[in-house]
Amino acid sequence: MANWCGRRLRFNRHDTKHTKLMTGSFRFHIGAFTCYSVSDGTRTYPAKAFFANAPDDVLAAALARHGQSAELVTPFSSLLVDTGVSCLLVDTGTGPVVDTAGKLLDSLRGAGYAPEAVDTVVLTHGHADHIGGAVRRSGQPAFPNARYLLTRAEWEYWMAPAMLLRAGESRLQPTRAILDGLKDGLRLIEADADIAPGIRALPAPGHTPGNIALEIESAGDRLVLIPDVFAHPLHLEHPDWNIVADADAAQAVATRRRFLERLALAGTLVLVYHFAPPGLGRVVRQGDVWGWEPIERL
Ligand SMILES: [Zn+2]
Repeated sequence: MANWCGRRLRFNRHDTKHTKLMTGSFRFHIGAFTCYSVSDGTRTYPAKAFFANAPDDVLAAALARHGQSAELVTPFSSLLVDTGVSCLLVDTGTGPVVDTAGKLLDSLRGAGYAPEAVDTVVLTHGHADHIGGAVRRSGQPAFPNARYLLTRAEWEYWMAPAMLLRAGESRLQPTRAILDGLKDGLRLIEADADIAPGIRALPAPGHTPGNIALEIESAGDRLVLIPDVFAHPLHLEHPDWNIVADADAAQAVATRRRFLERLALAGTLVLVYHFAPPGLGRVVRQGDVWGWEPIERL
C-alpha cells in the first residue's frame, strides 16, 4: 500500500504552474523496507542541457509530442530507505539555490524523519544538484549523525588537479566546498560495494567516472535507484542524446543502454531521481525503442 505523506502531489509532468507544490514524500514498501521518494523541489533548465547533441528539429518535435517546452522544470527526488535497523538517504537535492528547491528537510520531516535519524547518506555522484543538500548554509553536515558514502573514483575525479582546467572554478568550487564540509563523515566506497544488507551499489560510469545506481532488495522485492543515467524520459526514446554534463559521452551512452536492456528485461521497479515525482516506474521495450511507464500508486 502506498500513501502520500505531507502535501499530496497532483500535477502534470513538468507543469510550471505547480512547481512550488513539488514538495512532500511518497511512501512505498520494498519487502520489509519502508521507502520514501522525498522531494527537494525543482529547478528549470533549458532542454539543451539534457540533450546536448540532439538535432534541434528532432528535439523540438519530441518535446512537442510530450507537451513540453524548451524549458524543462526538473524535479529532484531523493530516496529514503528505512530498513528497521538503518535509515539511509540516497542523494540530497540541490539545496536552496533557487526558491523552488531546497525543500528536502521539510519533506523528510513531513514523512516523520528528522535529519538526525539518517545514519547513512549515499551520494551517487558529485554534481551539485545531488549533493547540494548534504550541508547546511553554514557548511556543516545537514545530517549530523550520518556517514556519507561516495565512490573512490568520484572523489579522485573531483579532486584531480586537471579538474580545475576541465570544469572551471565556478563549477568545481561548489562540489569541493560541499565535500570539504562533510570532512570526517565522508567514506569512500567501491562502485559495486555492499552498503547494507539488501542494498548495494551498481557502477554507472559515464555521466561522471564514479557515478553509481543503487539496488535495494528485500523479501523478493527489488528497486533500482537511477541517478543521471536517464535525466528525462526522452532519454529512453533517445539513449544516444547526451546530458551536457556527461563527462564521457560515449561511456554515458553505453551505460544508459546497458541499464535500459537490463531494467526492461527484468521488469524492474525503478526510481529515477529527475523524473516527475514520485519518480517510480518501469522501463518497457516498445519495438526498437524503450519507453517509461510511470507508477503513481503501488
Ligand atoms: Zn542530476
